[in-house]
Amino acid sequence: MSVPEGRSIINFAVAVIGWGKGGKTIAGTLARAGKKVAMIEQSDQMYGGTCINIACVPTKALIHSAEIRTSNDFNPEYFARSVERRDTLTGKMRDKNYAMLADLETVVVFTGRASFTRPTSLTVTAGDDVLELSADTILINNGSVPIIPDIAGAEIGGRIHTSTTLQHAPLPEHLIVVGGGHIGLEFASMFAMYGSEVTVLDKNSRPLPREDEDVAGEVVHGLQGSGVRIVSDANVHRIDQSEDCVTIQYVWNDQEQQVRGDAVLLALGRTPATEGLNLEAAGIDTTDRGAIKVDEYLRTNVEGIYALGDVNGGPQFTYISLDDNRIVTDQLLGEGKRSTEDRVAVPTTLFTTPPLSRVGITESEARAHGLNVKVAVKKVADIAAMPRPKIVGDPRGIIKFVVDAEMDLVLGAALHHVDSHEVINLIALAMRYNVTSTELKNSIFTHPSSTEALNEVLGMI
Ligand SMILES: Cc1cc2nc3c(=O)[nH]c(=O)nc-3n(C[C@H](O)[C@H](O)[C@H](O)COP(=O)(O)OP(=O)(O)OC[C@H]3O[C@@H](n4cnc5c(N)ncnc54)[C@H](O)[C@@H]3O)c2cc1C
Repeated sequence: MSVPEGRSIINFAVAVIGWGKGGKTIAGTLARAGKKVAMIEQSDQMYGGTCINIACVPTKALIHSAEIRTSNDFNPEYFARSVERRDTLTGKMRDKNYAMLADLETVVVFTGRASFTRPTSLTVTAGDDVLELSADTILINNGSVPIIPDIAGAEIGGRIHTSTTLQHAPLPEHLIVVGGGHIGLEFASMFAMYGSEVTVLDKNSRPLPREDEDVAGEVVHGLQGSGVRIVSDANVHRIDQSEDCVTIQYVWNDQEQQVRGDAVLLALGRTPATEGLNLEAAGIDTTDRGAIKVDEYLRTNVEGIYALGDVNGGPQFTYISLDDNRIVTDQLLGEGKRSTEDRVAVPTTLFTTPPLSRVGITESEARAHGLNVKVAVKKVADIAAMPRPKIVGDPRGIIKFVVDAEMDLVLGAALHHVDSHEVINLIALAMRYNVTSTELKNSIFTHPSSTEALNEVLGMI
């Protein structure tokens, strides 16, 4: 339902602000436990949250379509068909997500923007309709929004995009990406595979500054091989768009430079979506970085109010929001013991083609901490016992392990190869349960798979 006309007060046991991963999961659990739950989502195009509508799922659908192309030519029609496929997929997932909550007897879905009036009450606004509701427990799970930098001319519209709007823009002949983080590099890799010329302008002195140089170098090599040009140390200070093109001015090596393209992606990170929540009315504290301040149990400073997902300033991943749900569910229905401190070996993936997946610490971090480590590193093309990348025609990449020399435990791994987003979960699990490097090396893995690379690479230690 949308917000009914007029003003009335409705009482709930739990109100969830935003249809994020954590919030929607807990809403279902609590409703099935008989609690009366209000789910408040600002847009009917966002039922199911950011991940399924504008982020993880649609972008990976577009990446998949780009990867299965047989040619690298610039083909706007193919891109348009891929966007259609993306839209069909997200539409189905949105409907399914809506039904999963709306069909539960004790859930009421409100389509409107939530804002606090007191610690236990909210207004929900949709156009001119305003409704007030109260709840004993309030879960804030309303995500994050793209950072729009303080650069002259950096206004979204026309040829200047966020990661959301670019997914429905015409295929640019030349895409300029400002920012070389996860979203910037994923889009750069993907659009290059759709045949766009791609330039990435990044202010860091090298891409992926937190990765070891050998690993980052391989990723950059792969991107360059796909046709991506990366300009490091680029200080963008002006963007001008006209009917025909967009021009970016930047300083590089103390010199004024410019680059012209058809579209710009501003990929400078995302910030917690606290604007408009009127947190002051509830007395909820925020951090210096604008996130809702929470403790390790995701409790805000106000009793009965929790914050889950991107809005609490934690790592911005869907599976972290899902884990936030486990913590808050344990608070509300369990023993209240689970906390963010329980998180060990949380893996991440950068979905370039091939992807870069990582867990734990890098070799540089280990050396900086004076740890006694052994390192195994091998380029994928040189791993004889890993035919899978050759089978699928993409033998690019590198695998690197950092192992504690005395304990024989894996301290970190960087995998840059096809399927690495799957294999990394196995390594993270091994790290969590203290499986030794030798045990992993001697494990039986299916063949031909990417996992079997562990036999050979860890055999180097
Ligand atoms: C392009 C892109 C690709 C990504 N790819 C991945 C990936 O591959 N894997 C991964 O794990 N993560 C990925 N992420 C990150 C991931 O999408 C987020 O970390 C995750 O979706 C955050 O979920 P959340 O639970 O915080 O809430 P969200 O899913 O962001 O949901 C918040 C909801 O709240 C609603 N809302 C906002 N304000 C209000 C309000 N005042 N009232 C009511 N409703 C409101 C919003 O409309 C939204 O639906 C990606 C992000 C982007 C941008």
